[in-house]
Parts: sequence; structure tokens; C-alpha cells
Amino acid sequence: MRWIGLAFCALAAIALLPAPASRAQGLDIPSLLGQSGSLSLSLSRFQHFRDGLWPEARRKGVSRPTFDRAFAGVVPDPDVLAKAARQPEFATPPWEYVEARVSERRIGNGKEKLGEFNGVLDAVEATYGVDRYVVAAIWGMESAYGHILGDRDIVKPVIQSLATLAYLGTSNRRRSFGRSQLLAALQILEARDTTPERMLGSWAGAMGHTQFIPTTYLAYAVDFDGDGRRDIWDNPADALASTASYLKRSGWKTGQTWGYEVELPANFNYDLAGRGHARSIAEWAKLGVTRTHGREFPRPGDVGWLETMAGARGPAFLMLPNFRAIMRYNNSSAYALAVGHLADRLRGGDAFQRAWPSDDRLLAGAERMELQRLLRARGFGVSKIDGKIGPNTRRALRAFQARIGMVPDGFATKSVLDRLRQAS
Ligand code: CA
Repeated sequence: MRWIGLAFCALAAIALLPAPASRAQGLDIPSLLGQSGSLSLSLSRFQHFRDGLWPEARRKGVSRPTFDRAFAGVVPDPDVLAKAARQPEFATPPWEYVEARVSERRIGNGKEKLGEFNGVLDAVEATYGVDRYVVAAIWGMESAYGHILGDRDIVKPVIQSLATLAYLGTSNRRRSFGRSQLLAALQILEARDTTPERMLGSWAGAMGHTQFIPTTYLAYAVDFDGDGRRDIWDNPADALASTASYLKRSGWKTGQTWGYEVELPANFNYDLAGRGHARSIAEWAKLGVTRTHGREFPRPGDVGWLETMAGARGPAFLMLPNFRAIMRYNNSSAYALAVGHLADRLRGGDAFQRAWPSDDRLLAGAERMELQRLLRARGFGVSKIDGKIGPNTRRALRAFQARIGMVPDGFATKSVLDRLRQAS
């Protein structure tokens, strides 16, 4: 009876889904859920999936009562599939992402939280040697300092979300992710760190104040207040210490920062940008790279790489090893820059000196291929028309930019594509 009631609600929710979201990956959610004819067939299929999971859960130390309690009332959640299928048409440019995340509101709220949790952060910093402002910035980025945890549009029962991905995920990769995270979530319940009711997270199973997925939780979460539970859902002290523990084990270097905004000299060779071209700060300084706001580099021996994620018109950065440690949290340089910059702002630091090229945007897949075709047609050798902006395309783009008197940064945006369309 409960199944039928929930399945009905589920189908009502499906009707409200925007069609393109379900079409994006060829999803047919009603038939996946077994709408065609028999609700009891759906029930038996899902039970079959659950029964198939049990032997593996038992091997991982999960008891039958924990397993049954975790799955009580759990049915596939079509909203998880809809959120998993959402594909933005254009990649968000890094500048929009960073500007949106490091908002005045998030800076203000973070300063308040730093005051409120001053004692906890003192202890976390002393234990793990990780900068409190970076720990607080991750808290702000992941859950708006816990604010989103009350939003039931975002935060869902983790067992249900992961069971949905494991059972109905649209690719092998997604189903296998769902299954391994689901098994780890069951192990967390077995350890009595939390209850199924309090184990809430994103549609992809990222949980609590600092959004650990279950396998990360098992490897890195800590019980900082010593009450016997690693409670990242309802206890900010455990969550903040778990984040510091993760950063420390990801190679955080105590006493160093994540990186610096820099100014590049005129005629700078943009071939030197990128993680593969790391060199000491002293060597960068010899190439004419200076720190913004008239500041000195405090540690000339540190090794960093140059990141120009918005091309020559946007700010440039020298990234240090701690930037990599932040990227272990979320493997995106825009994410790590937002964390680093939010940390600096929480510390009282300045906004970036140079503005982002907010009048420009990145190219969609078809536009990237058009860019490659036009470069080839104009005589700038592009070996493959594949929509991927690799070293070869960037080299051709730089040659074109130099020809028309633009700064040759090899950065493919709409404005460069427009110049190519006009060129003859
Ligand atoms: Ca605890």
C-alpha cells in the first residue's frame, strides 16, 4: 500500500519535470520505474535489487537489523534521476562560478561563523595545522555554513538517493558509484554514527555540513568532540575537524597559502601557463610576474604554476601546492579558487585587482568545432575537428590572435570566435 501511494506521488512528480531534462540522456523515467502495467512488478524488481545487495553488505560487516531499518520505506526517487540528468547547455565560465560563490553575503555570514566557532576553529587549527579560513570557506561553499541542510529540495535521505542511483542510474559508472556509496552508507549506519532519518545529503549522496560522500566519510571523518559519533550532519565541530583532517591527508602544507593573484608583463608567453610548467616564485619574478596590490611574494622558494582561467583579459594566479590539496576536495580549479579566495576575504583580504571578462563567455561544443574549422580554413593548422581545445588548437588560436593584433592567450571564447567569423 505504501509502495502504491509513493509510486503515485512519484509519477505525479514526473509529470512536472521539464521535458528536456528527462530527454537529455534518453531517460524514460516512468518505464524505468515500471509504470507500464504493473506496480507490483516494480516492487518485486526493487526488492530483487535489494536482495542482491545484502550478501555484499553482510561481507562489509552490516547486520541484518541495520540493513532492514535502512531500507524501511525506501523506494526509487525520480527527483534524483532528474537532477542526475541535468546538463547545462553552456559550461558555466569560471568567473561566474567564483563571483556567485564568493558573494558579499557568504563573506558576511562566514565572518559571523568564524566568531561563533572561534574556540572550535582554534582547536581544529592546532590539531591539524590547516588554516581556519580555508576550513570555514569550504563550510561556506559546501552548505552555506549549514544553512542548506534544512532545505528539503536539496537535502534528501541518503539511502534512498544512493539506492536510486545504484538501481536506476543511466550509466554503469553511475550505478557502480551509487552501489559503492550505498554500501559505505550502510557501514556508517552500522557504526551508529547517525540514524537513517538523520543521514541526509545531496542527490549524489554528499552529506552534512561539509558534504562528504560516504566513502570519503569512512576514510576521513573524525569524532572531534569525543561523544563517540562522527556526526558531520548535526555537529559543526565534527564536520569542521573532518574537513581539516581531509585537507591534511591531502597534503596541506601548514603555514602556506593556496596561491596569489598576479600581474603578467606585456608580451608574456602564455605557453608557460598550466600545471605542467611549475617553477619557483623567484623564477616567475624573473619573468616579470608580480603580485597584485603592490605586495611582495613572502616565500620566493615556493614552487607554483600559472593559472589564467579567463585568458589574458581576466585575473592571473600563481597556484601553490595547497591549491592541489583543495582540489582533492572537489576536482575543479574554479572550485579551489573560490575556496581560496573566500578564505582570503574572510581573513580580511581584498577583492581581485583585475576584473573578470564578464561580457564574454565560453563556447558550447558546436561552437568549439566551428572555431577549429574556421582556424583550419584560415590556414592555422588544426589536426582534429573534435570540439576539444587542446595544445594543438590553442597553438593555432594563438597564431591567429597574434596575426590580428590580439593578446595571443589561446583562450577560446565567444568574442574570439566572432573575430574568426569576421576574418577572411
Ligand atoms: Ca562527535
